[in-house]
Amino acid sequence: MTKFSDLELDPRVLKAIEEAGYETPTPIQAQAIPHALTGRDVLGIAQTGTGKTASFVLPMITMLGKGRARARMPRSLVLAPTRELAAQVAENFETYAKHTKLTMALLIGGVSFKDQDRLIDRGVDVLIATPGRLLDHFQRGKLMLTGVQIMVVDEADRMLDMGFIPDIEKIFKLTPFTRQTLFFSATMAPEITRITQEFLHNPERVEVARQATTSDTIVQAVCVFKPSRKDRTASEKRNLLRLIIENEGDKITNGIIFCNRKIDVDLVAKSMKKHGYDASPIHGDLDQSVRTRTLNGFRDGEIRFLIASDVAARGLDIPNVSHVFNFDVPIHAEDYVHRVGRTGRAGREGHAFTLCPVADEKYLNAIEALVKQTVPRIDPPNALKPAKADAPQEEKSSAPAKDKPAAAKPARSRSRAKAAPEVASAATEETVQPVAETPTEQPAEKVARTRSKPAEAKLAEKQPAAKQDQRNRGRQRNDNNAIVGMGDHVPAFLQRSL
Ligand code: AMP
Repeated sequence: MTKFSDLELDPRVLKAIEEAGYETPTPIQAQAIPHALTGRDVLGIAQTGTGKTASFVLPMITMLGKGRARARMPRSLVLAPTRELAAQVAENFETYAKHTKLTMALLIGGVSFKDQDRLIDRGVDVLIATPGRLLDHFQRGKLMLTGVQIMVVDEADRMLDMGFIPDIEKIFKLTPFTRQTLFFSATMAPEITRITQEFLHNPERVEVARQATTSDTIVQAVCVFKPSRKDRTASEKRNLLRLIIENEGDKITNGIIFCNRKIDVDLVAKSMKKHGYDASPIHGDLDQSVRTRTLNGFRDGEIRFLIASDVAARGLDIPNVSHVFNFDVPIHAEDYVHRVGRTGRAGREGHAFTLCPVADEKYLNAIEALVKQTVPRIDPPNALKPAKADAPQEEKSSAPAKDKPAAAKPARSRSRAKAAPEVASAATEETVQPVAETPTEQPAEKVARTRSKPAEAKLAEKQPAAKQDQRNRGRQRNDNNAIVGMGDHVPAFLQRSL
């Protein structure tokens, strides 16, 4: 087995690795580092969690050990698709370069240009950036890329998903032809293959087995359900999510809830907060300072639930996540592996739940084909009895509040909702028709029907006022049991209001 000491890394780097507690190089490190150190271009097919960051940072530090930085001309460049990933590479760099005098600047959005300009003006050895921000600096004439000797493109497949490939091509063209390129991608889509053919020179291809399996320490489950109506899918999912969370009880220390779209990240976070959960959203449209604060809060245990998009959570190294919830079934099967891989790290037990409306079963099938296993199905947790959930009708009743079933109490009782978000409060959100409460023997449609707008209300909308009046009187009779002993037939004069 390869040891770090076999890799001809700078002794100062070896010291930092030892202090980080790493004993042996990961497969991508063992394969990529020797080639990188000889100056070859490397095409690394590996994904987050394989130790790929160190596989380019360690040789970079070693090679940059000789030479000095010049003002506004960085000697190396690392491009990452998101601010968080760029910041994570910078953290890695700080860890492994701590015994060297190398300088670094991080160019990401949300940080003032002025501070970044000052660093670049002084001259940096390593520039870590997101493509858009780098080009902004370049276009402002603050930066020259002609001194770049080593260029790294990290997570190229994500760059492709985010539409950064034209930016990457531009940046490649701004750097010298003689540069060394270290290029990493989890997958090799045709577009990625095209740019590697154009910009890499006879690269050494290193590949670590694609992680298409989920760790054995993760207990997985999927809840396939049929929404009562298509337009209620999202609200029913929010309800189901809360039911599962409550059902998991103390097993949950914290969790990441993944949504496919940013808009849903916001909606789910808002709904969770409304129901008293400690939850915050994270996605690319949020301010950098907010994202950093949220991530730190989640890492430190101040925030219990992180509602995230794939891009924002991609590659984030957050240890100790007890639960992952797929609010949406991921459209790309590999995203399932990434998402689920946020929990059950380092041999700990993790839990991953997926909410799957029947319309999304096709994505679930693709996931199961990729991971080569069937994700166990679960029924929706035992939820409300339909009558309890019918909050609007209960509220109409003239019965004193204390007689109402707990589930019918509106979530307005704030302290209650805050202290213990319960299944009961779930029933009162939005127009939620909780699927989970659909008893198995009762088809979802039927439940929906019993819960849709009360029949009287619908009739009332249609009928003229006089007729309504008559009906109401009839109802009064029934409700108050005012007339006794007349059987079904009640003479009209007895129905007249007093
Ligand atoms: P990455 O794939 O670069 O995001 O790395 C994933 C995690 O593995 C990070 O927390 C690294 O600190 C850690 N790591 C990287 N290399 C090693 C190694 N050789 N031994 C143990 N952990 C490592």
